[in-house]
Amino acid sequence: MFRRPPFTLALAVLCSIAVLPQRGSAAGDEVVPLALDPAIAAAVASVNAKNLLGTEAALVAFGTRNGYSETLRNPKRGVYAARDWIAARFRGYGKSSGGRLSVAYDTYVQPKTARIVRDVEMSSVVATLRGSDPQRGLVIVSSHFDDCNSKCSDPELDAPGADDNGSAVAAVLETARVLAPMHFPATIVFICFDGEDLGLLGSAHYAKSLKDRGIKVEADVNNDIVGASLGHDGQAWPNDVRLFSEALPKDAALPRVNQIGSENDSPSRELARALKEIGAAYVPAMHVNLIWRTDRFLRGGDQQSFTDQGFSATRYVEQSENFDHQHQTLRTENGIEYGDLIKFMDFDYLARVTQLNVADVATLAAAPPAPEANLLTRALGYDTSLEWKAVPGAASYEIVWRATDEPLWMRARNVGNVTSYTFKEMPKDNWIFGVRALDAAGHKGPAAYPQPLR
Ligand SMILES: [Zn+2]
Repeated sequence: MFRRPPFTLALAVLCSIAVLPQRGSAAGDEVVPLALDPAIAAAVASVNAKNLLGTEAALVAFGTRNGYSETLRNPKRGVYAARDWIAARFRGYGKSSGGRLSVAYDTYVQPKTARIVRDVEMSSVVATLRGSDPQRGLVIVSSHFDDCNSKCSDPELDAPGADDNGSAVAAVLETARVLAPMHFPATIVFICFDGEDLGLLGSAHYAKSLKDRGIKVEADVNNDIVGASLGHDGQAWPNDVRLFSEALPKDAALPRVNQIGSENDSPSRELARALKEIGAAYVPAMHVNLIWRTDRFLRGGDQQSFTDQGFSATRYVEQSENFDHQHQTLRTENGIEYGDLIKFMDFDYLARVTQLNVADVATLAAAPPAPEANLLTRALGYDTSLEWKAVPGAASYEIVWRATDEPLWMRARNVGNVTSYTFKEMPKDNWIFGVRALDAAGHKGPAAYPQPLR
């Protein structure tokens, strides 16, 4: 039987709670909001909802962007007409880059499979803004421009694809427009993939080709369905967006992950944490809601093509989707209008998601990359010793940490321009650590999870 504890016992419990030290307070500073870079803040502020609407209107006017419509060879209809329009847009925006932005197609023939009804030519649009530091890997911001209606094998019927995924193409083009005149150490690649709706085809081909050529990718920030704020149940979410990230790379050794407790610290997770921090600083009107999953149930996205190759990747998707407005043949049934139409979109919302992309990509390209780091566990001990490899552009390093059951970094300490550090007062068994690099201007990229080293 439950018995109320005596008053004195309750008071003693309350008092002991009051004097407990705050978790994470040991020997560190609070993780403070990122300092704004005025140039990045100006780029964020220059995102224009009218440009996004203009891109959407142009894409929808191609009638369909179904992946099988590539044989139409009609400059006004089909996926290749849209492809050529997107490439021309990138070239136009590239004029402000002083010759640093180049545009290419990544084209290949996908053979027929159980799912692909015939051999089909895929052609993604890749715009590259060359960075100043050849040691840096690529920072990628991606979308897909193909679409489909209720029947993905039908290239004839209209498929407007406004939200899925004209919204993200508009966001990526606008991000290119505002960043093209700016200079970054890392090369930024703006991509509109073909063949996502046929099974992530364009992105799989591109990511594999990067891996095969030994090209480093620091991050892929993928966008897919980011333009509507009104959910399926009529509730509006104008200030919320989801950011998906996978728990573990596919080559993760599960017994080791289990032993060291690294299940929430894949490179993609650290990227997601960094993007949440960047978003909170530059676009405070938006809540970036971290979803600890690869993607939604029964759905996928081009970010998976990058994680499949061992690269860090995340996906933005609107907070509450309406499946009546995705992958639907245009029709009205029982009073419900089906179809992915411009009228269901919210361009002010899309502008805010675009602002997140601008802040993310600019910050990642300016900040040094995540270092390769180790936690030294050679001898039984009470302290925490970390070491890491210097990364290009680093002026100092910051160690961040959190309790093992906390989702986000709680504390931070800038330890200067060194490549090792020991916390005498911090037992490694009780905390999860991360190491990240800062450039001279204070840009911070994602943290690296230090792998235990014996
Ligand atoms: Zn999509």
